[in-house]
Amino acid sequence: MDKVLVTGGAGFIGSHFVKRLLRSDDVAKVTVLDALTYAGHIENLGEAFLSPKLRFVHGTILDAGLVDDLVSQHTAVVHFAAESHVDRSFSAARTFLSTNVLGTQTLADAAVKHGIQRFVHVSTDEVYGPLPVGTATEDDPLRPSVPYAASKAASDLVALSYFHTYEVPVCVTRSSNNYGPYQHPEKIIPLFVTRLLRGEPVTLHGRGQHVRNWLHVEDNCAGIELVLRGGVPGEVYNIGGGTDLTNLELTEALLRVCGADWGSVTYGPDRRANDIRYSMDWTKIADHLGYQPTRDLDDGLAETVEWYRRNPDRWAPLSRNPQAAMPAVHIAAPRSERDHVL
Ligand code: NAD
Repeated sequence: MDKVLVTGGAGFIGSHFVKRLLRSDDVAKVTVLDALTYAGHIENLGEAFLSPKLRFVHGTILDAGLVDDLVSQHTAVVHFAAESHVDRSFSAARTFLSTNVLGTQTLADAAVKHGIQRFVHVSTDEVYGPLPVGTATEDDPLRPSVPYAASKAASDLVALSYFHTYEVPVCVTRSSNNYGPYQHPEKIIPLFVTRLLRGEPVTLHGRGQHVRNWLHVEDNCAGIELVLRGGVPGEVYNIGGGTDLTNLELTEALLRVCGADWGSVTYGPDRRANDIRYSMDWTKIADHLGYQPTRDLDDGLAETVEWYRRNPDRWAPLSRNPQAAMPAVHIAAPRSERDHVL
């Protein structure tokens, strides 16, 4: 646990997790490996970037040589790096499968070679597919219905296969939808917040009836850290316990916090595929590892909106950047540019 390699540490959840790790006295070194795709921003790391314990490496998890070299220098891997936006997966499925599945396999191969002591693969409730009723436990079948979820389900299975085949001490976490500061303004909460703060309209897919469980990013990171420290190798842990909301209810809450009204809301056609509801049972991580979410939704949304209100310089250029609306591409940095060590 003293030397941790975090992939995707410049993304939304990864950057929160890196800051959390750096506050731990028993963590001597954290290395972030991130390709800085459209979704990765060094600025997400803030002052953590200056920590003497942090090393930032600009590169891709698909670069087997780089991954091998980095894994050899660490005792634990926490794997966040992924293409993460469902809508983009409709037009760029190959990139999703490449990054999410082959990237995971590349890391797992290096973990075998170097006898890594802990390997946490970060995944999502979307792998269980739509659940009109009921809740999914970790033993339920995977029924992903969109390319993003399929690529994550495949990567979960690849990661777990390395436990069964090579005894890599892999744990998988599956969390519900995260929200909080530093999220790229393509996902529904930051998209709606940034538009409402500019006085622009927002568009709900369909009738807004889809249900998601909204979990504060810090609660998810607390769960991931518990799994990193005490998870049983080969096990999957659902991380839930947020608030179930239809998108209509979520919109109502965001309008309230942003000081807007229903006049700002229009309705558009539903997206190509849109799972009606996700729901997970998270008693396993609560009972075995003492996980308990602590963030209240109203407080968390207020804090999140306040962050976007105070940091227009962070998100306004991203909202204006047409690249943000294009299919994801990888940055294959030349080796000399990869390593930024402070
Ligand atoms: P994000 O899109 O904000 O961040 C992804 C990060 O991965 C970015 O920094 C990006 O530059 C990096 N990356 C992409 N391709 C890479 C590559 N080939 N090599 C190295 N780095 C690469 O995503 P997020 O919302 O922070 O999600 C992090 C993880 O958590 C993902 O695995 C996602 O599937 C999972 N997850 C997210 C949510 C959510 O609500 N956001 C919920 C459950 C699970």
